[in-house]
Amino acid sequence: MIITEQKPVKEIINSLKGFHNIFLVGCGECATTCKTGGKDELTRVKELLEKEGKAVVGMCIPSAPCVAVQTNQEIRKNSLVLTKAEVILVFACGLGVQSVKDNDKSGLVVLTGCNSLFGAAMDRYGNFHEKCSLCGDCVLNLTEGICPVTLCSKGLLNGPCGGVNNGKCELDTDKDCAWILIYRELEKRNKLDALRLIWPPKDFKKSGKPRKVGAVK
Ligand code: SF4
Ligand code: SF4
Repeated sequence: MIITEQKPVKEIINSLKGFHNIFLVGCGECATTCKTGGKDELTRVKELLEKEGKAVVGMCIPSAPCVAVQTNQEIRKNSLVLTKAEVILVFACGLGVQSVKDNDKSGLVVLTGCNSLFGAAMDRYGNFHEKCSLCGDCVLNLTEGICPVTLCSKGLLNGPCGGVNNGKCELDTDKDCAWILIYRELEKRNKLDALRLIWPPKDFKKSGKPRKVGAVK
């Protein structure tokens, strides 16, 4: 899932300078889980904007605004109320915001109320952990399921570096060194020979932006 945080109120209000009528869009998936773009958060934003003298003319929460079909469905349902809006303020990740912009045919100004932080897995306590940088050339099969690109502070493919100290990362002593974790997993499976392999520099052409994958038929 994509982790978001709401922008500071002052920044949101500043971005709305010159606009009075606002339509809010949330996200029923990631931003609802992050408590940045669900029903409660949009209701709070509405109250806050109204206190600032703005009018919230309507709101909707597509289950996933990054999916055009779902965004379009909500935009169609709200087409009448959208004629009163000057701006659409989206509480979702950058994917959701740009998808709303791409699918809103009325050409309204589309603004974001969130900062997108990273892709993460959520543990059973509700903490979000960055685990993958979407590098386009996954090495997890060679590192026992631990991603050095993301979990090593330097993204090293041939670790550990000389700074590792008692299994901790030199750049963050609260954090386990990713390469020590990989070492321990390989050791458990009697595969330490894998560490003799010197990996060539990563081919970052595979993560060149913007990437596109055609529709699956
Ligand atoms: S190597 Fe790491 S960053 Fe790359 S795809 Fe695999 S998990 Fe993601
Ligand atoms: S100590 Fe480990 S995690 Fe930290 S930068 Fe060096 S190799 Fe990477």
